[in-house]
Amino acid sequence: MRDEIIKEARELDSKFNFFSSIPDNIDPGTPIAIKDNICTRGVQTSAGSEILKGYVPPFDATVVSRLRQKGFGVLGKTTMDEFGFGTFCVNTKKIPKNPHDTTRCCGGSSGGSAGFIAASKHSRFALAQSTGGSISCPASFCGVIGFTPTYGRVSRYGLVDYSNSLDKIGVIAKTVKDASEAMRIISGKDEKDETCQGESFKEIKPLDKPITVGIPKEWLEQKIDPGVRKEFDASVEKMKSLGWKVIEINIPSTKFALAAYYAIALAEASTNLAKYCGLRYGATLPLEGDFTSYFSKVRGKYFHKEAKRRVLLGTYARMAGYQDKYYLQAQRIRQLLIDDFKKAFKQADIIAAPTMPVVAPKFSEIEKLTPIEAYAMDVLTVPPNLGGLPQLSLPIGKSESMPVGLHLISDHGKDELLLQAGERYGA
Ligand code: GLN
Repeated sequence: MRDEIIKEARELDSKFNFFSSIPDNIDPGTPIAIKDNICTRGVQTSAGSEILKGYVPPFDATVVSRLRQKGFGVLGKTTMDEFGFGTFCVNTKKIPKNPHDTTRCCGGSSGGSAGFIAASKHSRFALAQSTGGSISCPASFCGVIGFTPTYGRVSRYGLVDYSNSLDKIGVIAKTVKDASEAMRIISGKDEKDETCQGESFKEIKPLDKPITVGIPKEWLEQKIDPGVRKEFDASVEKMKSLGWKVIEINIPSTKFALAAYYAIALAEASTNLAKYCGLRYGATLPLEGDFTSYFSKVRGKYFHKEAKRRVLLGTYARMAGYQDKYYLQAQRIRQLLIDDFKKAFKQADIIAAPTMPVVAPKFSEIEKLTPIEAYAMDVLTVPPNLGGLPQLSLPIGKSESMPVGLHLISDHGKDELLLQAGERYGA
């Protein structure tokens, strides 16, 4: 099986560009694909960026060492938007193609992991990571399962940070069962990450009680493709037929969520990217001039356009005099949103919505989007990520022959309930 997994990964990579690297000598054990922002000892970790090309970590992220202890090894590193900056996995050199239609994207930023699991016959799951939707979005676009845990239930030790208060490592899988098994291995308290205090995932037992599903009115009022809406409405009927009670709920702060998310994520990203100065990690240039001119030259050459845009926006938001206006204001909105969710979870066990408002767009359509139009595609995935809530994206049908995803969200720490509901729904 091991040889078949490796052979298939190389073949799929040459056809669809799923990997940023597959090492020549693959570790012992069952090989697993890992998003390229998760550190792997001895295997290049570039986070989709030219600036980290050639960076080979001398250590494993906690999630990787936990997989190794269970007999898994690193198959290769899956391609992603540079540092996680994107919704379509096009903000990087090696752009993955959607296995359902190669003129379309895989979704971002964990596009390589999602495309690979969708196309593979032998691999059951891959590691992925989300800041504002990077597991759910590509899962939805590629027609696979995406599971994002509660913030803090999986260690971020060894993750190349995008936005520390939002980043979560999770999985892309063929079935909910595969996702649950992977989560049991990688989750649980880690002394190397102070924010990781949660318990390991428990075994998923069949859901033995009817649940109440809340549908946020404000989310369905967003611009959603009619084909996506049709599949979502059909999934609501299916939930009702399972005996689940479906009610309307309100998340009124939704209208501020995108602005708050981008202010927080970019402010944090801009500080995280300061360490890529051509001295400590990855790319270098001949040492010339003073530090500022060297630093600018290296970053000017190796960061992609979107990373530069985000460094500028994030630095601006943190500037003295603007901090209260943007970053702190965004944090207040984040709290309002968390309060909305708290109220919602008094009425409903699970929140449901379409994962993305569209199916995977064509590369030719993505080229025409302005940055703001691209950011706006995250309108449904950003709120639960700002809340640090667990999310499960399930494939529910097709529109324009492309997969459509259903997004289920539960309260903090109720990750297992979400997986139980996913299994009961039948995915
Ligand atoms: N599309 C969002 C962004 O660009 C989310 C990406 C992510 O979760 N890494 O920030």
